Amino acid sequence: MHKILFMSTPVGALSSGIGGGVELTLYNLIQEMQKRGYDITTVAPKKSYFANAKIVEIEGNVHIPAQTQGRDIPTIMPENSVLANMWEYARTVQGDYDLIVNFAFDWLPFYLTPFFSTPIAQFISMGSLSDSLDEIMNRVAQKYPQHFGVYTKSQANTFPFADICEILGSGLDLSLYQYSEKFDHKLAWLGRVAPEKALEDAVRASDISRVPLLIFGKIQDEEYWQKIVQQYPDAPMDYRGFLSTQDLQDELRQCQGLLMTPRWIEAFGNVAIEALACGVPVIAYARGGPAEIVEDGKTGFLVTPDSVEGLVDAIHKLPRINRRDCRLAVEERYSLEVWGDRFELWFKKLIAS
Ligand code: UDP
Repeated sequence: MHKILFMSTPVGALSSGIGGGVELTLYNLIQEMQKRGYDITTVAPKKSYFANAKIVEIEGNVHIPAQTQGRDIPTIMPENSVLANMWEYARTVQGDYDLIVNFAFDWLPFYLTPFFSTPIAQFISMGSLSDSLDEIMNRVAQKYPQHFGVYTKSQANTFPFADICEILGSGLDLSLYQYSEKFDHKLAWLGRVAPEKALEDAVRASDISRVPLLIFGKIQDEEYWQKIVQQYPDAPMDYRGFLSTQDLQDELRQCQGLLMTPRWIEAFGNVAIEALACGVPVIAYARGGPAEIVEDGKTGFLVTPDSVEGLVDAIHKLPRINRRDCRLAVEERYSLEVWGDRFELWFKKLIAS
């Protein structure tokens, strides 16, 4: 039986929501690989929690997420870095594992890669954000060309090493998301409440169209959130908190559509496939991961990036979408089985080499 060590993100504990989509990706991958007979251990910051997973919790201070920093800012290491402590642990146990998989979008694991004797697979969860990170990733990618995995082609294209990336996509345990034919006249927005997600565009679209907007997710930037609340006092919006997958799909499936408004090049957008799995069409800006997921006119609408008018137009067109088509698209392209095959093939190749 192969033993694999997953190295989590250092920005927060698993299940806190601070890590965003990579938390769900890790959870799903652990479940699928265990089902296939792999022995998976996950190293993560203190207070991390996942059901049915072996987690080694590591003490230390969490890191600043790369997307909150400018491109040219040097790499920041906090005192008593949890990332450094996690990789110190990995160094001491590496002999027990056939493969280590890095899920951190941070400078240190790339730098450390050549110093390890166990092979390291790099799963990149975001598009290019920092010059120093691009530089170290590119250097390691040239040396270990098969070791870089990404979600989507659009994400890979943000990096200088786009051509060598394995495109792995994402997947869901579809049994956790219930399809609903029925819906109420309201919209959903989900994700981390942070500037790169441009929640304000969705709030404006809801304000103009007067269709209520339910907001789900971790408030990562409180100041940013308060600004939106003050700027749109009459918008029909309702913040529902950060929910578990079970509760989230329960509320989400009653919505008429999901608005996805990222200002950045979204690497994937797990929330898009979660909505589609419930039969909820997705209205998204036509760039990054969502543009590869949404079939315009069939499972939702792709609108001109940053155009609130485009969002409003698409909201009016939502009745044209057959909700059954949304669920079917996810069953065909984003099942845990199909996704697991791609990851397993990649892992096997790296273990064999
Ligand atoms: N999410 C959640 N509960 C909520 C709202 C969001 O668990 O109430 C999760 C959602 O399931 C998704 C993640 O937050 O996995 C957001 O990930 P996405 O890939 O859309 O964006 P990222 O945060 O990685 O940029």
